[in-house]
Amino acid sequence: MTRFAANSPHARDIASLVHPATNLRRHLETGPSIVQRGEGIHVYDDSGRALIEGAAGLWCASLGFGSERLARVAYETMRNLGYYHLYRHASNEPSIDLAEKLLSIAPVPMARVLLQCSGSEANDTAVKLVWYYWNAVGRPEKRKLISRKQAYHGSGCASVSLTGKPEFHAALGLPLPGFLHTEFPHYYRNRLDGETEAQFSGRMAEALEALILAEGPETIGAFWAEPVMGGGGAVLPPEGYFEKIQAVLRKYDILFVADEVICGFGRTGNMWGCQTFGLEPDMITCAKALSAAMQPISAVLVNERIWQGMLAQSDRLGPFAHGYTYAGHPVAAAVALETLRIYEEIGLVDHVRAVEPVFLEALGALRSHPLVGDFRGCGLIGGMEIVSDKETRAMFPPELDVPGRIDANARRHGLILRFVGNRIAFSPPLVITEAQILELARRLAAALDDTARELG
Ligand code: PLP
Repeated sequence: MTRFAANSPHARDIASLVHPATNLRRHLETGPSIVQRGEGIHVYDDSGRALIEGAAGLWCASLGFGSERLARVAYETMRNLGYYHLYRHASNEPSIDLAEKLLSIAPVPMARVLLQCSGSEANDTAVKLVWYYWNAVGRPEKRKLISRKQAYHGSGCASVSLTGKPEFHAALGLPLPGFLHTEFPHYYRNRLDGETEAQFSGRMAEALEALILAEGPETIGAFWAEPVMGGGGAVLPPEGYFEKIQAVLRKYDILFVADEVICGFGRTGNMWGCQTFGLEPDMITCAKALSAAMQPISAVLVNERIWQGMLAQSDRLGPFAHGYTYAGHPVAAAVALETLRIYEEIGLVDHVRAVEPVFLEALGALRSHPLVGDFRGCGLIGGMEIVSDKETRAMFPPELDVPGRIDANARRHGLILRFVGNRIAFSPPLVITEAQILELARRLAAALDDTARELG
């Protein structure tokens, strides 16, 4: 029996919807928390209360939760050409314009763009392109893919196999064969006693090399990484990490795919996370802030090497047999293109850099709070570690549900937080102002204080 009135949205939700990342049994009791509308960095719940969205939804609502201008572009595009596809040589101008724009702003030279609807589809497509490429150049045995433990790369069958989170594989017989996971480069949690950050990065690169050698370098097709690990808990790469990792990849001729689904379009204080951390990938997947999350659209950028392999396969096989009905949707492409124009007009990357010190300082100041073990961030992304003991870095026992308590207290103070295990991952809308960052930090501090009091 539900405690909600029959025909209330809550009761209808319980009776009809399946929610991702939700305990399905518990949801029958708790029901949903319904979001009625959004404006700027706030969303409004069903009692009309405004909450600061500390995670921009799912790391994506870069411009906040509504836009007249993007709504107008969607409307006008839909009236002109409500749908068309890119199959069999067909095209549409919004898709052409968007592909051109993405190539012009890519962090390393890229040759072509494939459009899809989601980050998962982008990573699934990139997995197939790795296989397609190595087949094209006569090395079909280079099929295995390496990503990192605790990484999140999506929920498609291939992208979830890249994902390094056991809960996404449980009861599914996943990951698929040939999807391997190397060490989680989380310095705060996984360092050895006395190990410097640079030494830790060296050990991570050695672990990668050992995995490659154990599997046979001739069988490894590509390595996958986000510049900052979002779903891993907003974990920044340790000092020198990507330099060392990329040296290993070059040594064994392994392709590098950068997942910019979260980091792309300003999040780390540059247009791309690759620029912030010196990544030189062969392919880039991006989504989310590409359209300010206002339309479902993603992209895979491929470099000349991959593109030449694809062309060679067309010479052999004919048409490139891969695609999605809504890939290159003119409405989504037009909204994405307008989003990128808005970013330029408002100087979004400069804005992120301007507010970054306030973000790092305001949240960094909470390191002195008894519940906070660490905070690290860059641009407008950061992770805060919740600990029971600052010295030993011990976590609270799960039965105390400290993340759940902090989350509930934060909501009472008007703040929506995103927890990844015992970490709070911050990624507010990129348009957040200094004053709003200070308010976010104030509400968080109040929630931490309440929780510390509850824990006695
Ligand atoms: N890659 C990363 C880094 C992500 O964070 C996500 C989603 O959060 C995805 C891929 C999957 O994107 P989507 O949910 O649009 O399929």
